[in-house]
Amino acid sequence: MAETENRPTNFVRQIIDKDLQDGTHDHVQTRFPPEPNGYLHIGHAKSICLNFGLAEDYQGACNLRFDDTNPEKEDIDYVNSIKEDVNWLGFTWHEDVRYSSNYFPKLYEFAHELITKGLAYVDFSSQEEMREMRGTLTQPGKNSPYRDTTPEENTTLFEKMKAGEFKEGECCLRAKIDMSSSFMCMRDPVIYRIKFAHHHQTGDEWCIYPMYDFTHCISDAIEGITHSLCTLEFQDNRRLYDWVIENISAPAVPRQYEFSRLNLAYTVLSKRKLIQLVEENYVAGWDDPRMPTVAGLRRRGYTPASIREFCQRIGVTKMDNVIEVSNLEGCIRDDLNVNANRAMAVLNPIKVIIENYPEGQVEQLSAANHPNDESKGTRNIPFSREVYIEKEDFRVEANKKFKRLVLGKEVRLRNAYVIKAERVDTDEQGEVTTIYCTYDSETLGCDPADGRKVKGVIHWVSAAEGIEAEVRLYDRLFKVENPNGVELSEAINPDSLEVVNAIVEPNLANAEVGVAVQFERTGYFCKDPDSEGDNLVFNRTVGLRDTWANAN
Ligand code: ATP
Ligand code: MG
Repeated sequence: MAETENRPTNFVRQIIDKDLQDGTHDHVQTRFPPEPNGYLHIGHAKSICLNFGLAEDYQGACNLRFDDTNPEKEDIDYVNSIKEDVNWLGFTWHEDVRYSSNYFPKLYEFAHELITKGLAYVDFSSQEEMREMRGTLTQPGKNSPYRDTTPEENTTLFEKMKAGEFKEGECCLRAKIDMSSSFMCMRDPVIYRIKFAHHHQTGDEWCIYPMYDFTHCISDAIEGITHSLCTLEFQDNRRLYDWVIENISAPAVPRQYEFSRLNLAYTVLSKRKLIQLVEENYVAGWDDPRMPTVAGLRRRGYTPASIREFCQRIGVTKMDNVIEVSNLEGCIRDDLNVNANRAMAVLNPIKVIIENYPEGQVEQLSAANHPNDESKGTRNIPFSREVYIEKEDFRVEANKKFKRLVLGKEVRLRNAYVIKAERVDTDEQGEVTTIYCTYDSETLGCDPADGRKVKGVIHWVSAAEGIEAEVRLYDRLFKVENPNGVELSEAINPDSLEVVNAIVEPNLANAEVGVAVQFERTGYFCKDPDSEGDNLVFNRTVGLRDTWANAN
């Protein structure tokens, strides 16, 4: 990938450089550890680009590991979507996909090791009691009455837990660390709980499931992860991570490093909220083009390269901040400006009748697919006596600043002739319904010869040959800059989707789903998978210019 070549340094790379220099490691092994309880979002893309990008740059490897210790919330559909999205972003994981659940037998043995060492115990306190004994940030916790059960007894009890002899919630396994630690996570954290749940990988084999903090560090050790990168909210948990690794016969000593998560303005990135958007039908699904999911961005017309570029531009730091959506939009605009083919589409049509053009005649005019890239070739666009132009491109009267069609004046139809507006039809309200024009047959591909200046160029589509399309115009999904603490119903922008019936050039019937095209003068659009046969649907990926900056 070309864009990885000049990747700027960051604190993680500095750590890796040092580790390689002083011999702490002789290779780099990272992992991306999603929980399969939702679709990946742009925040995950940051973590993916970081983990897979480092592996690529240092000729190391990156594992894809499903962190699947919460069977009730997880689903095989999520597993599949995550694999698809990682590949689509342009990354390949090392060897086979892994699951934390692959390690359930080993994790169980390590739990026994802690019990044997007197470092874990089965606690029968109720959740309420445990909460009370936990203390607060300012007050130390209290030891559980079960804390001093002997290792022998705990071994038997833990075996019984596994055998299904206790009810859900009746007891759990806790690490015996320090009830007065200033880190709450060190106050005898729960490391196993009972759940009689069916698991998408292990079926009904287990009724006890390990907690994240116990599972993650051990999975990292088993896989020989050298640099375990996670987001800042796990900073405190690093103590627990290190404690587990120190107190079991770990096959390796991985280290955790934290970076700041991606926050985007006007966007929620918490899976809980994203699930709510889907389940309460605020959007049409996980891949709704308004969603900040990788699947939504793909359907919207984003390219993998634009998302990777975005992740590179925002960088990796330990500073929490909120990124403007315009940064993300800038990346796709820069990409499509160079790479997208051009086409013509009229979103809000008004009819133009060119009275001196022969009735029934259709000319195939040649148009460049890209103004600055001849290698993209040309296409034919049909021209005929009746064409559509945008309503907003015509005025009965206007000053000189209006470089479009004005009654009595000339304008160039892009890729075609110069026309002159002669007269109009209006309806009862005085609204113009039809514009009658004449055209100059000498002006195809060249300026008018007799010294007339025609500055304006507008786009158009042949009325007879053009085809109808539903065009979906998207606005931000939320009307408040930080929707995270706000009820969805309050924060949601009721006008985030506007549907218009457009007329588009016939070539667009063959557009590829998801591949954005520039509708000249209008924006970048891509065909939506909802398109069927003659029923064309296009999504607006992004406008031609940044309208967000001024909109607030
Ligand atoms: P969420 O908060 O959206 O529910 P999560 O952290 O629970 O996300 P995981 O599936 O556990 O989701 O995340 C997998 C990896 O992606 C983790 O290493 C996590 O730190 C990282 N990640 C999740 N959200 C972001 C984000 N907004 N920015 C950067 N990395 C993220
Ligand atoms: Mg998580």
